[in-house]
Amino acid sequence: MLHERLEPIYEVVVERNHGEVEFHQAVREVLESIGPVLAKHPEYAEHKVIERLCEPERQIVFRVPWEDDRGEVHINRGFRIEFNSALGPYKGGLRFHPSVYQGIVKFLGFEQVFKNALSGLPIGGGKGGADFDPKGRSDREIMRFCQSYMTELHRHIGEYTDVPAGDAGVGGREIGYLFGQYKRISNRYESGVLTGKELAYGGARVRTEATGYGCAFFVQEMLAARGDSFEGKRVVVSGSGNVAIYTMEKVHQLGGIVVACSDSDGYVHDEQGIDVELVKQLKEVERGRIGDYAQRLRGRFLRGRRVWEVPCEVAMPSATQNEINGADAVTLVRNGCIAVGEGANMPCTPEAVRAFQEAGIAFGPGKAANAGGVATSALEMQQNASRDSWSFEFSEHRLEEIMRDVHARCHDTAAEYGMPGNYVAGANIAGFTRVADAMLGLGLI
Ligand code: GLU
Repeated sequence: MLHERLEPIYEVVVERNHGEVEFHQAVREVLESIGPVLAKHPEYAEHKVIERLCEPERQIVFRVPWEDDRGEVHINRGFRIEFNSALGPYKGGLRFHPSVYQGIVKFLGFEQVFKNALSGLPIGGGKGGADFDPKGRSDREIMRFCQSYMTELHRHIGEYTDVPAGDAGVGGREIGYLFGQYKRISNRYESGVLTGKELAYGGARVRTEATGYGCAFFVQEMLAARGDSFEGKRVVVSGSGNVAIYTMEKVHQLGGIVVACSDSDGYVHDEQGIDVELVKQLKEVERGRIGDYAQRLRGRFLRGRRVWEVPCEVAMPSATQNEINGADAVTLVRNGCIAVGEGANMPCTPEAVRAFQEAGIAFGPGKAANAGGVATSALEMQQNASRDSWSFEFSEHRLEEIMRDVHARCHDTAAEYGMPGNYVAGANIAGFTRVADAMLGLGLI
C-alpha cells in the first residue's frame, strides 16, 4: 500500500512513462518504503522532492549505425539517462542487450540514484545502453559498435558531468574501445570519464571483482547480524557473468559452497562446489556457454530449468531483473533458504520480495547488496583524479569497509523507523534522505 500522498505521484509516473513497466515497478518499490519519512519531514513534500526525483534530469536517445563483418549496415538505438546529479556527476553503467529500451534504462537509472546515495560517495545516478545484441558478434564488430556508440555519447559525458561504466554486455573490452574512441574524438586523456577500465590505461584494482565481492560481503554482514556466517552454507548463484563469477569466488573464500550457477540455457549443479576458474575460462576466455561445464569437469547440466529449484541456504541472484518470481521464492523458502543477496538489479519480483519478507529471511536488495561495483568505480575516479593506483589489498579493504557501512546504514535506518531487519525499507529510506537533503540544499533546480 502506498501512503495517500504518494499514490497520485505514482499515478503520474505511470501516465508519463507509458508502458515502461520496469520503471513503474522500481518507483513503486521506493515509494512504498518512504511513507514514514514524509510524516517526519514535511519539507520533502512541500518542495516536491519526490516528484522531481521521479523525473530524470535529462534523457538522451540516439542512433547507432554500424557495419558488420560482411559489410551489412545495422542501426541500433542508444540511450543515456542522466537521472540525478544532486550528489555528484551522473554515474552508472551501460547495458548492451536486445531487451534494452527506455523503460529498462530508466528503471536502472532510478535504482542507481538511490544505490549511489547509499554508498555514501559523491556520485549522482545515471544509466545507459543500447538494444544491441553482442552474442555471437566478432571482436571487430564489437569494436565498431562501441566506436559508433561513443561517437554520439562523447558530447554528453565527462569527468565532472557523467561517468559511464559497464553493465550486462559491457565489460573491460568494451570499456577499452569506448575509452579509445572518446580519447580520439576529444583529444583528452581524461581517465575519469569512464570506469571499469583495464589496469593498463587508468583502471583500478578490484573494480572487476567489486560487485560480486561486495555482494558476498553484504550477505556476510546480514548473516553476522543474525549470529551466523557463510561457513558450510550451500549457495546458489544465478548467472555466470562478471557479477556471478566474483560472487562465487568470494563466497568460497568466506567458507560457503556454491552448488549451482546458470546462463540463459539452463543451470549447472555441482555438489562439490562450482569450480570458478573453469567458469572464468568458459565465459570470459572462450565466451562460450555454461552447458559445457559438466562435460569438462563434473556435475550435471539441466537445460531450460530454473536454478532456484536447487536446495540452498543462501540465494544470490546475479543475472537480470525479475529472475526470481513469487513461486521461485516460495520454493527457496520451503527448501530452507535463510538469506538472499541481490547481485543483479531488481532480480526479485515484488511477489518474491514479499514472500521472503513474510518468511522472515534476511533479504538484501540490490541497491544495497550490489553497491560495491559502483562504489569501487568511485574509488577508480578518486585514483584517476589524483593520478594514483592503489594496491589490491588496500582496494579490497576499502570495498569491505564500504559494504559494512552500507549494511549498517540500511540496518540502523530500518531500526530507527521501527522496521528492524527490513533492509528494503532501510536502503530506500537511507538512500532517499541523502539525495533529498542534497536536493533541498541546492534549491529548485
Ligand atoms: N552497472 C553497475 C551497477 O549497476 C556499476 C555502475 C558503475 O560502476 O558506474 O551498479
